[in-house]
Amino acid sequence: MTVQDGAARAAVLDVRGTYRWLAARAEGAGARIFTGTPATGVIMDKGRVAGVTAGGARLRAGVVIDASGFQSAVSKHAGLPHSWSRFGAGAEYEIRAENADPDTWWLMVGSKYSPAGYAWIFPVGGDIVRVGVGVGKPESGADPRVLLDRIMKEDAGPVAALGRTEMIESHYGLIPNDGPSRKTAYDGLLLVGDSAGQANPLVLEGIRYAIRFGGLAGETAASAAAAGDTSFGALKAYEDGGLLQYGRGCARQAGCKKDGSG
Ligand SMILES: Cc1cc2nc3c(=O)[nH]c(=O)nc-3n(C[C@H](O)[C@H](O)[C@H](O)COP(=O)(O)OP(=O)(O)OC[C@H]3O[C@@H](n4cnc5c(N)ncnc54)[C@H](O)[C@@H]3O)c2cc1C
Repeated sequence: MTVQDGAARAAVLDVRGTYRWLAARAEGAGARIFTGTPATGVIMDKGRVAGVTAGGARLRAGVVIDASGFQSAVSKHAGLPHSWSRFGAGAEYEIRAENADPDTWWLMVGSKYSPAGYAWIFPVGGDIVRVGVGVGKPESGADPRVLLDRIMKEDAGPVAALGRTEMIESHYGLIPNDGPSRKTAYDGLLLVGDSAGQANPLVLEGIRYAIRFGGLAGETAASAAAAGDTSFGALKAYEDGGLLQYGRGCARQAGCKKDGSG
């Protein structure tokens, strides 16, 4: 089925460019950025999160925002629930393609592509496209990397039309799919993005939610810190506002159930 539109309805994000832009804005606002310095523990103070340990340093904070993705690293160190019962596994190749079409997005469904999910071809710009496969867990035990290699090798469906291809890089990762099941605000702690399970349960896209809720988390934390109250009571507005926005986003997606699950 082909859906055509004269208006641009989708965008491909330059992730590295976005990180650099955000980093420059944060530094401009006085932040210090530590790259290659994972949080390896949390500082607890009277039962609340009061900072993290990273790179041998103890960094205290009124509010810690856990934006560590699927692993929810900070929450895990704080002893909060961190495993997901439903999630997606995704594998993707960024490739140069002889016949890349920058105006066409492909979504491929059916067991030929994925037993529980879908495959895609997204244009990045110029002659570069991303070809990927997502598999829902625990519905299927299939490895998306194996399926992706098969699709490429067999020139399945629209892959054949790409012509000669040359691999640039590969991506693999896990995306939570439990809907908004997780508490996202605690005393001194907010969870955002995949760490909070905020990916859309229908197609498991999480970037726009991570950006939107990241802004909301930052605003809530800054207001709470300025008011001198970073308790759950002061941070709860983030959870309430986030759920509302998430619910509205879900409601726009056909087939999304009331509880947010797919
Ligand atoms: C193959 C694939 C394709 C995808 N395609 C799309 C798509 O087309 N559109 C879309 O919207 N979504 C897509 N997604 C989902 C999307 O990538 C995620 O939903 C999104 O990246 C979530 O953003 P995030 O910032 O919450 O987490 P992440 O992007 O996972 O970022 C988490 C960051 O935290 C860092 N980190 C981890 N542990 C620690 C620690 N202990 N201390 C400090 N830092 C830490 C990580 O290094 C990472 O930089 C895809 C996912 C996969 C796997």
